Amino acid sequence: MDHAICRKKILQEIDELRALSDGSREGRAPVELDQQSVGRLSRMDAMLQQSMDVAREERRRHRLAVLNAALRRLDEDEYGYCLACGEDILPERLGIDPAVTLCVTCQNRR
Ligand SMILES: [Zn+2]
Repeated sequence: MDHAICRKKILQEIDELRALSDGSREGRAPVELDQQSVGRLSRMDAMLQQSMDVAREERRRHRLAVLNAALRRLDEDEYGYCLACGEDILPERLGIDPAVTLCVTCQNRR
């Protein structure tokens, strides 16, 4: 797997995640509890929606950390090796997820 392609894919995904994060900031803001104009049900709806937005953001933040760690490995020429056993990670595997950290064997051991 060409590392330049991996880097490009990683940077692209980081961009997408950041854009999603920015676009959903409003949805993650705490729901106003004292707004009288909104009925009880729609308020509960809004709170449920908000907690889902927060959960999604959490997942995005986790993924961003994983992607940034992969970028660091690229910079330090440690990219493409299993973090558990040090073996090469199959190119096909990196092609599916360029930020993957384990080889198939170690992944299956988890
Ligand atoms: Zn391994």
